[in-house]
Amino acid sequence: MANAQIPVVVVGSFGDGPVQVSCPQCHQMVLSQVHHSSGLLTYLFCGGLFFCGFVLGCCLIPFCVDRLKDAQHTCPTCKAVLGVYKRL
Ligand SMILES: [Zn+2]
Repeated sequence: MANAQIPVVVVGSFGDGPVQVSCPQCHQMVLSQVHHSSGLLTYLFCGGLFFCGFVLGCCLIPFCVDRLKDAQHTCPTCKAVLGVYKRL
């Protein structure tokens, strides 16, 4: 599997929700689109629940909770990745 190198800028101002940013690629003020993906915290939470004695199904709950996931901000116009908000 090819490990594509995407230039990702991690900026502290990114959070859970969409933010107004100037896109470095198309140079427009855009409201970022947020995509959530399972991050390190999701897996830690999953492992934590597992060790606390939850049955297999319950430890998958973190994967359904957006607040435990990393948020990737993309430009709605040119689809460039603007930044990633990580939980850890
Ligand atoms: Zn753009």
